[in-house]
Amino acid sequence: MANPPPTPDTVRVAEQLYADLGQAVGPPGRATVYRTIEQLNAAGWLARIHTQSGEAGYVPSLPGHLHHLICTDCGVVIAFAGCALDDLLARLASETDFAIEGHLLQLYGRCASCKK
Ligand SMILES: [Zn+2]
Ligand SMILES: [Zn+2]
Repeated sequence: MANPPPTPDTVRVAEQLYADLGQAVGPPGRATVYRTIEQLNAAGWLARIHTQSGEAGYVPSLPGHLHHLICTDCGVVIAFAGCALDDLLARLASETDFAIEGHLLQLYGRCASCKK
């Protein structure tokens, strides 16, 4: 899969997406919005981000195996492909006899603007 460009975006929680949609096209039902978010997430078009408040947030995404860098100051999110965990996972699987089926990885820090 081609690497997507590292386009910065910001995390939106479901209630914000619901509010944004309401402004554009009139309010769809809250259940419809949440169901659609789940479908987009399952298909890879939205990535779920675990925010520091514990609330699930979302950013637009591309299908494929991606992870995210998240700025703890401004909330900008940068996706990256090419995670290099295969060696670690293979070692863990053999050491623990665990059938590893997936993983989550999010990196926190401060973006180029905020660290200045
Ligand atoms: Zn930042
Ligand atoms: Zn990965």
